[in-house]
Amino acid sequence: MAVPFRRTSKTAKRKRRTHFKLALPGMVACPNCGESKLAHHVCKACGQYKGKEVVSK
Ligand SMILES: [Zn+2]
Repeated sequence: MAVPFRRTSKTAKRKRRTHFKLALPGMVACPNCGESKLAHHVCKACGQYKGKEVVSK
């Protein structure tokens, strides 16, 4: 099995990891209250989904 010739330096490792981003899954602004919410989910702030369907608080 091939073995890396040199240990990856701290700098090289860190530079590579600058591309690992925390990707927040599908956050969109609520059309009703403007809070950021998960797409295809009921808004936690106002309890609305697609304009009408209301979840009581
Ligand atoms: Zn809302």
